[in-house]
Amino acid sequence: MEKVILIRFGEIFLKGRNKGYFEKCLIDNIKAAIKDVDCRFVKMQGRFAVDSFDPDLTEELVERIRKVFGLHSLSVATVVPTDLEAIGKVCAEMAPDHGTFRVTVNRADQSVTMSSIEIARELGGDVLEAHPDLKVDLHHADKEIFVDLRENHTAYVFMDKIPCVGGMPVGCSGKGMALLSGGIDSPVAVYRMAKRGMKMCAVHFHSFPYTSLAAKQKVLDLAEILTAYCGDIKVYVVPFTEVQQAIHENCPAEYMITIMRRIMMRIAERLAMREGCGSLVTGESLAQVASQTQESILVTNKVIERLPVFRPLIGMDKEEIIDTAREIGTFKTSILPYEDCCTVFLPRNPVIRPDLQLIEQAESALNVEGLIKGAIEGVEIVNIKR
Ligand code: ATP
Ligand code: MG
Repeated sequence: MEKVILIRFGEIFLKGRNKGYFEKCLIDNIKAAIKDVDCRFVKMQGRFAVDSFDPDLTEELVERIRKVFGLHSLSVATVVPTDLEAIGKVCAEMAPDHGTFRVTVNRADQSVTMSSIEIARELGGDVLEAHPDLKVDLHHADKEIFVDLRENHTAYVFMDKIPCVGGMPVGCSGKGMALLSGGIDSPVAVYRMAKRGMKMCAVHFHSFPYTSLAAKQKVLDLAEILTAYCGDIKVYVVPFTEVQQAIHENCPAEYMITIMRRIMMRIAERLAMREGCGSLVTGESLAQVASQTQESILVTNKVIERLPVFRPLIGMDKEEIIDTAREIGTFKTSILPYEDCCTVFLPRNPVIRPDLQLIEQAESALNVEGLIKGAIEGVEIVNIKR
């Protein structure tokens, strides 16, 4: 029997004057998520559907669609012509053998003369006949069978509402440039901002040969995992060894991390402007490490002139961040033991509350502009496709 995936969206953003824009964004994203699967996307009154697919691909389609931001839930329904006997059969096949259940009917088809309650009672009877151990419970049923009678004399019968990830359609809140390391936090930060409708680009700093090619590949792998939610991600891979060497040779060791982060931010801002991004995004969380104190963040922020910096994890515990990383599938890759550029030339005692004046003074020993230009010249762009 034919299957259809019914897709419900979070209504909130589909109201008001931008409805058309949001809806187009959402539809484009769903289509992009399933573009290599042979199927048909249908826009219906108040929801969407996908049909005409090989039933063996149902699970794959469900997994892909439920990760599209902006959707509320979906259901895999069996399509039946509106004929009570046929619908009753399908309900009976779907029903569990024991426990409690109810049938809920929604009748959009006005040519059906019985009321939805009468229909539900009759279908419930069919189910009970096939499963004598089942019991009806209208208020706290273990399983609910939904029957949707549509205008075109077609009925959809389904049981579960599979929750989607919610959020806003990616692209409807503009574009952001994330500083993506190979750690646990920044991939979660990317996910969080994409969930608010931001199209994400990423910049990664690597210190070849101090850090391996495997460390860089790990970041690209993380980006690829994120594409299931974010769509395609353009990753700017920036050679950072020269910058780090210059800091190491010319600045006090305890300022290494602070100065390094200030230069990272400047480079990220320039790439973001070039890419048309409206913000920078990092995976910082307050007090997690020395560079994530209020003072450090102030000193790092000072170099950013044109964009806001979003830190979606700032108030989250590591445990909470890890939970999300597991949920979205980045955790296992994040904990692979490759070195990060931040661990190269790592000082024993990084300054925890840096003083802006002292940092600026130390930084004046560097040709900051030259270092930034050199790094940007060496940028490699990798387009990660879903
Ligand atoms: P993460 O788990 O995201 O690596 P972290 O807890 O290790 O974070 P830091 O190393 O201090 O913390 O980095 C803070 C943030 O700076 C990261 O979340 C990321 O946004 C950015 N960052 C750090 N290293 C890099 C890098 N090599 N390339 C790009 N961004 C980086
Ligand atoms: Mg890190």
